[in-house]
Amino acid sequence: MKLKLQFKTLLTASLSVFVAGLAAPASAQAPFPDHPISMIVPFAAGGPTDAVARMISIPMGKALGQTVLVENVVGAGGTIGATKAARAAPNGYTIFLHHMGMSTAPALYKKLAFDPLKDFEYIAQVVDVPMTLLARKDFPANNLTELQAYLKTNKDKVSLANAGLGAVSHLCGLMFMSQIGVELTTVPYKGTGPAMNDLLGGQVDLLCDQTTQTVPMIKEGRVKVFGATTLKRLSSLPNVPTLDEQGLKGFEVKVWHGMYAPKGTPKPILDKITAALQTAMQDPMVKQRLADLSSEVVPMDKMNGPSLKTHLEAEIAKWGPVIKKAGVYAD
Ligand code: ASP
Repeated sequence: MKLKLQFKTLLTASLSVFVAGLAAPASAQAPFPDHPISMIVPFAAGGPTDAVARMISIPMGKALGQTVLVENVVGAGGTIGATKAARAAPNGYTIFLHHMGMSTAPALYKKLAFDPLKDFEYIAQVVDVPMTLLARKDFPANNLTELQAYLKTNKDKVSLANAGLGAVSHLCGLMFMSQIGVELTTVPYKGTGPAMNDLLGGQVDLLCDQTTQTVPMIKEGRVKVFGATTLKRLSSLPNVPTLDEQGLKGFEVKVWHGMYAPKGTPKPILDKITAALQTAMQDPMVKQRLADLSSEVVPMDKMNGPSLKTHLEAEIAKWGPVIKKAGVYAD
């Protein structure tokens, strides 16, 4: 969407800046933050990344003394939101919450409009969230063995939802298909919030998604679950076996999440935001809610910008060759 500025509006805006400049000495800048902050989330509202953002935006806002508004900028597996965040004014009023898709995008997209290692400042790593493999409630198979048997003869009838190339649901789906040696029709959404709606409605069959969305669905019996993507069973779902223990050896996906700001955001502002994030992540309600969803808050001594940057570099180096070898990419 292009912003159209009328000449008159522009003139009025320039005049008010001029008048404000006359009234206040150049050094008297308003303390940060003096108006609401936008937290860009690159997936649809109602999904698991959005859930984390909304959970922490309120205590972060309290710590900063300003509202933190979640803004869903969706599409292309998270890369549209990342591009918008990279291009936003570096003044602290735009921050960006993304998951490990930040590290897979450079290998998945031949043309990427942002560089995860050059276009951002690093606020902190936030939380690690496992995934679960699900099916619609009335899917014919009841466990992983039955699912594998069913897919052998019915794969053309089965669809696997994801949140686009670069989404962790996509990555998890690819790992699943490659481990069982079956290729399914995939259906991309703008987030796994809408994908989950279609799974509940029976329009798609399978979905691999973070526990920040799936634990309540599983507990309420609204979906079928085949396994968790961890090597140990999830504390919140002790009766759900891991995919690994059922024979998909080494099937492990823990979705790490990081918070960023556009490159050039001043250090004192970044420090304030980092401190607010740390306060939010120690909020007993946030901690309890995340623990109930089998998610692990990053230890406080690692919840900082330099640790996030080191982690991102290592993850880019890890995923690049894997993705190249798999030959999956967008032109
Ligand atoms: N779970 C999604 C993914 O697959 C994103 C989301 O909607 O939060 O990356």
